[in-house]
Amino acid sequence: MIAFWPLWLHETIHFSLCTLAAFLVWRFVAKRGVKFWKLWLTALTSGFFIDGDHLFDHFFAYGVMGFFNHGVLSFFDASIANPFLEAQKAYVIFHGWEYLIAGSLVLFFGVKWGKGVKGMRSFFSDKKFVSVCLVFLLSYFFHLCFDQLSWSHSGWGYFLTYRLLNNFSLLKL
Ligand SMILES: [Zn+2]
Repeated sequence: MIAFWPLWLHETIHFSLCTLAAFLVWRFVAKRGVKFWKLWLTALTSGFFIDGDHLFDHFFAYGVMGFFNHGVLSFFDASIANPFLEAQKAYVIFHGWEYLIAGSLVLFFGVKWGKGVKGMRSFFSDKKFVSVCLVFLLSYFFHLCFDQLSWSHSGWGYFLTYRLLNNFSLLKL
């Protein structure tokens, strides 16, 4: 965790990658079956709004008053307040390759076998449902890839279990 980009730039790129994920799924998978804006909103949920977990890190580092002292601006400018440096911890609990692996397995096996299971059939044979799941995962994948490349890490830093085993220590990232 060395290079701190201006967060507004970082988030703008995340935002753009969400749009790209939505476009790719819309164009090549969903086609006319699903409205683009629905895929786009889904992509933003997993590819943009997951950075909302920084709120928890902020709270942990600065407490409730931190939200008033440092305010929202600190999310856009690490020179105002940097909860990671302050606490020497990085929880970012919504960030983890494990989520992606688990979600991908569920989707993969759901599509493969779920159609044959009563109660799941209606979901996994529905192209709209599958498209929404796919864009959720793809956008999340883009988010983690970009985060992984953006910050200087051990390489394992975006595995939740790795952070947990190291007590979320910033030094281990
Ligand atoms: Zn992130």
